[in-house]
Amino acid sequence: MEKIAVYPGSFDPITNGHVSLVKRALQIFDKIIIAVASNPEKRPFFTLDERLEMVSKSLEDYPNVIIKSFDGLLVEFVEKCNSNIILRGLRAVSDFEYEFQLALMNRRLNRKIQSVFLMTDYRWLYLSSTIIKEAAKLGGPIEGLVPDIVERKLREKFGAKINTQ
Ligand code: ADP
Repeated sequence: MEKIAVYPGSFDPITNGHVSLVKRALQIFDKIIIAVASNPEKRPFFTLDERLEMVSKSLEDYPNVIIKSFDGLLVEFVEKCNSNIILRGLRAVSDFEYEFQLALMNRRLNRKIQSVFLMTDYRWLYLSSTIIKEAAKLGGPIEGLVPDIVERKLREKFGAKINTQ
């Protein structure tokens, strides 16, 4: 049977940390469904369409990666995808408490679904969508930290402020 994992997140925007996690997960799972949360209550910086476009472009060379949007209960979405695996990434200890809480809640909601965690590669340990937006806003160079399309989009949003090294 095909092993399908669902990787949910805001991806506001996708970073090289997310991309690296997906590539490594492809060594374990046959198919990864990236589930971009519409999350209006989190007031995302990029629209859902923009986030979907950036994720699709960043992973277009990987046919076993499928990009979808979702709202509502994650466990219901995972079942609809014919999957029983939620994939999440762990960076520093600070991620652990929230991820643990989320995994236990999801398990309470649906015991057939397992959460699986991959540790970040040390190169992306400090990388988050939030820190990328902060750096870009202040004109910091972000090349090498995000896919090209994300760098372009951030430059469009923040004007010519972003320095190139
Ligand atoms: P959310 O708003 O659900 O936390 P994110 O897009 O910020 O969504 O993150 C989605 C998942 O990717 C989370 O499990 C997060 O821990 C993981 N993640 C984010 N950045 C990195 C990174 N640099 N390396 C590995 N995993 C990461």
